[in-house]
Amino acid sequence: MKQSQTLIPTLREIPADAEVRSHQLLLKAGFIRQNASGVYSYMPLGKRVLQKVETIVREEMDQAGAVELLMPALQQAELWQESGRWYTYGPELMRVKDRHERDFALGATHEEVITSLVRDEVKSYKRLPLTLYQIQTKFRDEKRPRFGLLRGREFVMKDAYSFHSSHGSLDEVYQKLFTAYNNVFTRCGLNFRAVIADSGAMGGKDTHEFMVLSDVGEDTIAYSDSSNYAANIEMAPVNPTYSKSEEALKEIEKVETQNQKTIAEVSEFLNVDAEKCIKTLVFQVDDKNVLVLVRGDHEVNDTKLKNLFEASSVELASPEKTKEIVGCSVGSLGPIGVKNIEVVADFAVEAIVNGVCGANEEHFHYINVNPERDFTINKYEDLRFIQEGDSSPDGEGSIVFAKGIEVGHVFKLGTRYSEAMNALYLDENGKSQPMIMGCYGIGVSRTVAAVAEQYNDENGFTWPANIAPYHLHIIAVNMKDQVQAELSEMLYKDLTKNRFEVLLDDRGERPGVKFADSDLIGLPIRITVGKKASDGIVELKIRKTGEMFEVHQNELLEKIT
Ligand code: ATP
Ligand code: MG
Ligand code: MG
Ligand code: MG
Repeated sequence: MKQSQTLIPTLREIPADAEVRSHQLLLKAGFIRQNASGVYSYMPLGKRVLQKVETIVREEMDQAGAVELLMPALQQAELWQESGRWYTYGPELMRVKDRHERDFALGATHEEVITSLVRDEVKSYKRLPLTLYQIQTKFRDEKRPRFGLLRGREFVMKDAYSFHSSHGSLDEVYQKLFTAYNNVFTRCGLNFRAVIADSGAMGGKDTHEFMVLSDVGEDTIAYSDSSNYAANIEMAPVNPTYSKSEEALKEIEKVETQNQKTIAEVSEFLNVDAEKCIKTLVFQVDDKNVLVLVRGDHEVNDTKLKNLFEASSVELASPEKTKEIVGCSVGSLGPIGVKNIEVVADFAVEAIVNGVCGANEEHFHYINVNPERDFTINKYEDLRFIQEGDSSPDGEGSIVFAKGIEVGHVFKLGTRYSEAMNALYLDENGKSQPMIMGCYGIGVSRTVAAVAEQYNDENGFTWPANIAPYHLHIIAVNMKDQVQAELSEMLYKDLTKNRFEVLLDDRGERPGVKFADSDLIGLPIRITVGKKASDGIVELKIRKTGEMFEVHQNELLEKIT
């Protein structure tokens, strides 16, 4: 591509409102432009980087046996009502009406659409397992869109969904996609960790997040300095005896289910807002009770919670030892009667926040909420969140904390959606069963920003070759010099023919401007065609290391391959 023919609107200054490095540089180097808050145009260079990430994602997903499709971004409200999420998703879901006043959502995620699609098309165990994915624009009305592509309101996601007739099959595909994700982020050149995550409001159990280590990350992860143990601190255990064991999970499965309406009604009543995002830890105390610990580092709920706990009879676990614990309470699984412990836990926390613990309203009643009166926990004194320097729960090494950017998320959904939406298949005995599901997301545009965050220096980007918008940047120092102009053009054609992606700066700008732009754009190798062009000599510069050497044009190809 010739720079005179494309659009790379580099800026001299960093825009004042861009706080983090990736956002600053993506704007300054002309990769993106903001449209509305959290809404961006990808300029030609930005689009190429996005496409590189998409290609890597596609290759790895295809390799793992997933099949690409494309679903609508405009989704009927009825589907979201069926799953119950129309009522629980909160204001993050963008809702629109058509000319007939019918409700629609702009796709924030596609569990509902894919579940209805597969429900209609797949009827027999013979067609399972099936893993489908798409790469598509998603919409989420984030409360705080920020950091450029890191948290947008319109962004590109790869989302995949798998359907199974057995848990074993789900485990297998989950493992395959876990490996695919590792490959994707490794090929993107990222320094990342796969961490145990909180299954939160999604419903389900096993779940891992892929976290890129970065100071601008909005999550905190705890990992062992000498093993593979890594967890989002939302999930890092307080005390291994209370963590969610296999037995506890089995207990959870035994809990009675009532109909989905109740979840919707309850959440509507409690005005559940996913964005409150209280950090919680949930533990099975016995077959009736769950213990909910609330991490008090959330701006909105901090005071609310403190006031509530001060005003209530719920006692804090030993205050000196448990500085981070603002409060704890127990919500009974009984009255709500839903199967999913996280949903119950969310409600329990909401109940605490909204002060309706033990309220007498039908269906909104929590019993066994008073720790001293209604139950006792033997190790109460020992309860605390994991801290830096603790020994790792797997016994190997000690715990280190780091900030992480969530670039991917894999999730065993179980039958959360298939049961709610009647996605059934006939098993080998002709018996109707709900499909077992998994879902798997990658923030494609966020990954671009994460790479940008990890690959830059004071002069601009230092893109890894796999992700760089082009491989080579040819700078014709003086376009008025015919020898330089001709050699540049010749190398451009030759290298392009040899399958390099080449950007040729053929603009009539001053050399200083060209070099500064070249460093800013940050292609891996710069080829400068200057005064020595008449001897067939050009200068190579490795952007990342700053190394420079002169090369004869005849040896160029060999040198850069
Ligand atoms: P976060 O915790 O950052 O809000 P999430 O857990 O809500 O993300 P998921 O529902 O797991 O996101 O979506 C799958 C992936 O989509 C995430 O792992 C992330 O990489 C990406 N993603 C989510 N929200 C955004 C956003 N607002 N902008 C860009 N990428 C996003
Ligand atoms: Mg989110
Ligand atoms: Mg998250
Ligand atoms: Mg997530």
